[in-house]
Amino acid sequence: MTATTLVHRDPGGAASLYETDLRYTKLLEGRFGERFLSYRRAWRERSEGGDPGDFPLSLDISASSGCQLDCVMCPLPRRRAAEAAAAKAAAPSKPARPDAGAAPTAAPGHEGGAAGSARAGRRAGAGRKAGEGNPGAKRRLMDIGLFRRLMDEGRERSLPAVTFGLGSEPLLDPRAPELVRIAVNSGVMDVRLGTNGQALTRELSEALADSGLTRLEVSVDAAGPESYARARPGGDWRRLLANIEGFLDVRAKRGLKWPLLRVSFLKLPANRGELPLFKAAWEGRADMISVQEPIWFPESLLPAPPPLPSPPGPVACRQPWQRLGVLEDGSLWPCCSWHGERLLRGETAEGGVARAWKFGAMASLRLALAGDGPPPACAVCASAGRAPGCPEGGNGGRGMGRISANGEARLIDR
Ligand code: SF4
Repeated sequence: MTATTLVHRDPGGAASLYETDLRYTKLLEGRFGERFLSYRRAWRERSEGGDPGDFPLSLDISASSGCQLDCVMCPLPRRRAAEAAAAKAAAPSKPARPDAGAAPTAAPGHEGGAAGSARAGRRAGAGRKAGEGNPGAKRRLMDIGLFRRLMDEGRERSLPAVTFGLGSEPLLDPRAPELVRIAVNSGVMDVRLGTNGQALTRELSEALADSGLTRLEVSVDAAGPESYARARPGGDWRRLLANIEGFLDVRAKRGLKWPLLRVSFLKLPANRGELPLFKAAWEGRADMISVQEPIWFPESLLPAPPPLPSPPGPVACRQPWQRLGVLEDGSLWPCCSWHGERLLRGETAEGGVARAWKFGAMASLRLALAGDGPPPACAVCASAGRAPGCPEGGNGGRGMGRISANGEARLIDR
């Protein structure tokens, strides 16, 4: 009989993590030993906002742009729609047939502006099969030379962790298993991949199991097909379940515990009331279950949070002390929140990660966050989610916590 245990909860309640048989952390500690413990210690120490060290503890990589789904909590679908509408507007119009007569300037029912753009984008995606890619989404790939240079630098600095999937769907990149293998061969200990699971074919599960991937993290966000369709339009519920079952089967047939499986549930209006069902469905099957509050973004379809207090106070986030995101074009991102995507505008990884980490916009951002004048994007981020950050940086980026006997969260080294 398996047991699911709450092992972490942010003090603000923004993120909770449950482990099956308490095996998730034990397996990581058993496999990597002191290196894993010291990585998590460093993560926690950096959460105090002191010395960011010479190098990030985690590089979060978007090796390809784009995604095939239209999820309500994500800005990408609205951007895609706006781009499609702009491209359509900029396209040279076809010359009118001489017998066509004068066309009306706006057809009945035509809607302009943002609403019209969004609808145009949805129309652009209409008719495609779920999970097979949005024809409006142009994917850009990171140059493999740049990726190798990042990993070479990581090897020199004993980089502990790499996460694939920052702001994009990594399994749409056919190179995904190869990229994981390069990271593993570069000495990275903890290689994670976050996915919507729609493209996780059995073949890909086999390749990922072969690649040395440490953790596979699948966003589910529903307990049934109706709520899944509301939360993640474009996705196919049955395909998702079949893909995850296929992954578990591959792992079981090989007698492997790796990659560990985490499934996540973002609390959305679309899935209200389904959390108990979701947890019951995954207890014992996933190694870890993550439950999170969403962070609101202006281009998401989530309800906006209450207005900001003015002036905004300090922001507790310490992600820029711990992690660095690198997008497919080499540009940098200091965290895992969409609010942070423009905080390092103009900075790239081309001059080396170590340099970007210590100087320039990263250093300025830390000074601003540690003082009383957080950048406006961070002030909005902090009030748009109950605690900024991802679960692994929970407690506002302060590291992981465990629930003690009296029910309080306390930090742990993981
Ligand atoms: S407060 Fe938000 S936007 Fe600012 S660095 Fe932290 S996670 Fe990123």
